[in-house]
Parts: sequence; structure tokens; C-alpha cells
Amino acid sequence: MQKHIDNYDFAGKKAIVRVDFNVPLNEKFEITDDTRIRAAMPTLKKVLAGGGSLIIMSHLGRPKGVDAKFSLKHIVDHVSKCLGVPVAFAADCQKADAEVAALKPGQALLLENLRFYAEEEGKPRGLAEDASDEEKKAAKAAVKESQKEFVKKLASYADCYINDAFGTAHRAHASTALIAKYFPDDKMFGYLMEGEIKAIDNVLKNAQRPLTAIIGGSKVSSKLAVLENLVGKVDNLIIGGGMGYTFIKAQGGKIGESLHEDDLIPAALEILAKAKERGVNLSLSVETVCGQEFSNDTPRQIAPTNNIPDGWEGMDAGPKSIENWKKIILASKTILWNGPVGVFELPNFAKGTLQIAEFLAEATKNGAYTLVGGGDSVAAVTQMGYADKVSYVSTGGGAMLEAIEGKELPGIAAIRE
Ligand code: AMP
Repeated sequence: MQKHIDNYDFAGKKAIVRVDFNVPLNEKFEITDDTRIRAAMPTLKKVLAGGGSLIIMSHLGRPKGVDAKFSLKHIVDHVSKCLGVPVAFAADCQKADAEVAALKPGQALLLENLRFYAEEEGKPRGLAEDASDEEKKAAKAAVKESQKEFVKKLASYADCYINDAFGTAHRAHASTALIAKYFPDDKMFGYLMEGEIKAIDNVLKNAQRPLTAIIGGSKVSSKLAVLENLVGKVDNLIIGGGMGYTFIKAQGGKIGESLHEDDLIPAALEILAKAKERGVNLSLSVETVCGQEFSNDTPRQIAPTNNIPDGWEGMDAGPKSIENWKKIILASKTILWNGPVGVFELPNFAKGTLQIAEFLAEATKNGAYTLVGGGDSVAAVTQMGYADKVSYVSTGGGAMLEAIEGKELPGIAAIRE
């Protein structure tokens, strides 16, 4: 049965904690953004304060095997600094018995990158490009078989398991899901995971209405399942950014050279029909800031989104769209935002996205619950200095997307089972 970190007695116990320390490093292997490390601190400190010891495990990057570039040794000093105790390092996550045995209450050990082993993800590596289906199947079966031993070894280090890695909660990997079964009565979420789950529930399960979702970003194809799930749940669905032009074209609009996916026009029409059927207010951009080419200094003009001149492409939401969306946002009690409403990376086309961040901060101040997830929307609220002026900023891009698709994430299910 699942336990709660607040009530668990860590005294004298060893806790193996899956965190997401997949932080960006520069060429000198210095951490350029330690948000993910700081986000795990409440959980890690709780174990130490309770008299337990820590075995911390994570992946870093996408190594294809042992690769010093992706070694977690680069971050040990910083983790020690954040945690306030020296952190030992085990250079092989499968051969850490001695280091684990030496751990005393209040001490911490970081295991080397789990993904140095193919067994972490359970996917075969090094298959020849021309491998036959038979060979692929055999390689997969082999890694699944050796994965059992890999998981067992990790589990053998500890008395209890904590999953605090929301960023990988959508993966059924050894350390994020499979390990949980070795701790039937000693498994729990960390505080970060718990916060993320609560934030998602606040929007998808217990929302105060009106509930509004603002979905932006480049392509319909990457967020189709999100739109399909949300259109069955929300009161207002704002669709902005590059993906909006497929909807405008589907309705017969002229979108110039704007990004769009013709093969997704039927899917867009279905979403429009479902919104109508359910009485959902699906709000598309009515006015667009267009550029002549995809660059910051390209000439700009404002055009109706359904009548963009040839040779121009829609790159940001125009003032009338922003005005419409502002009204919807400020009248909402719960708001979910994922994805920019323009080409946020180019400062001349970032204004719409930054204004959305501003409206979310205002709505939060007025009592709305606001959840921001996804790289660029998180960057927008951070850039505006609003990260603490919205209710919750998610740390997991892919995991958040799958959660708002309505899927049960394997990392969450494994603890609850
Ligand atoms: P996503 O990862 O799907 O959330 O998409 C984020 C990307 O969408 C960013 O890189 C934006 O530049 C891009 N994007 C947003 N609006 C547009 C647009 N109108 N045209 C092209 N790309 C866009």
C-alpha cells in the first residue's frame, strides 16, 4: 500500500529516491539551470531530517552507454551544496553495495546515471540498422529479461522507495515504475510529485468553473490528444500559436504561408464539431501579427487571421485576439496554459505570449487557480517574473502533456497500485 512521506518513519532507514536531475550543462560541465535539483530538495531533506539516509538516482541526457559527458559526477558538488551535507558518489549504479553499506543516518549517496544501462529504459541498444524483425524481437526480449536483475539490484539497496521525478513519470522505466513492486508497503510520492499531481487534479478533476485551457505551440499533431481530451472537459478552449492556423484553414480561412498541417484538417473539424456539440467556447485567433519570413527582423503587419496575405506567415497573436482572450481568462476560475501563442523565441513575436502570462498573473491575483506547463509557457511566465504569481508552474513537459491527455502516468500508477 502507498505511504505518505509526511507520516513515514525514516529513522534508520535507507530511502532510494528517483529524482529528475536531468539538468542542462555547458561545455565546462557547469549547471546552467538548477531548477530541477532545487525542486527535489524538500523531499530529500525530509528523509535526512527524519533520520534516514538517501540513495539518490537519476538519468542525465540520452547516453547510448557509459559516456563521461553524461556522468552525474558533474553535479555531485552542487547537489551537496543544495542539500547541505556531503554527497558520496557511486560510479556504477549496479555496483554500489559498498557505498550503500557505508551510509549512515543523515548521509546521502548519488548513483551514476541510470541510463548508462539499456535496462533502465528497457530498450535494446546497438542493433544493426538492417536488423530483421526477429533480431529486434530477440534483442527486446533479452533487455527485458536483464532488466529484472537491474531493477532488483537497485531495490536491494533500500528499505523504501520514493518517486519524486515528475519529469519522467510518463515513462515505465526501471527506476520510475518497475522498482515500486519491490516496496509494496514502503513506496510513496515525493513532495514535487505530489504537488504536480494535485495541480493536475485541480484542473482535470476538481476544477472551479469556468474552466479554460489555453493551448498553443507549433503543431496540432503534437497536441491532438490533449485537444481531444480537453474539449470534453473545459468551458473555454483557446487555441493559439502555429497550431491555430490548421483550424482557421479548416474553416475556409486564407492563412498565407502560415504553419499548418493539411492532414490534420479532418481532426481539427472534429474538435470544432465536438466543441459546438458540448457548448464549449472554442476561441481561435481573429487577428495575427504576420512576418514575411521566419526571422526577428522581418517586416511585420497585422492581418485578420482568416485573411493573411500571400507571402506572409502568422507569427504572433494580434491585439484583437489578445483582447478576446484576456476577457475569457479574467472571467475564468481555473486556467490551464500549455504552449506559446506565437513564435516566442523571436522577441518581435513574443508579445502575445508574454501578455497571456500577464493575464494569468492577474487572474491568479483575482482568485483563479492557474497551472502553467510546457517549456515555452513556463519560460514566458519566468521571463515576466510571474513564476510565483501563478498558482503552479509544472516541472514536467512531456509528463504534463500526457497527464492532460487524460492518461494515467506509469510512475504515478506504480505507487498507487
Ligand atoms: P510546442 O513545443 O508544441 O509547445 O511548440 C512551441 C513552438 O511553437 C515554439 O518554438 C514556437 O516558436 C512555435 N510557434 C508558436 N507559434 C508559432 C507560429 N505562429 N508559427 C510557427 N511556430 C510557432
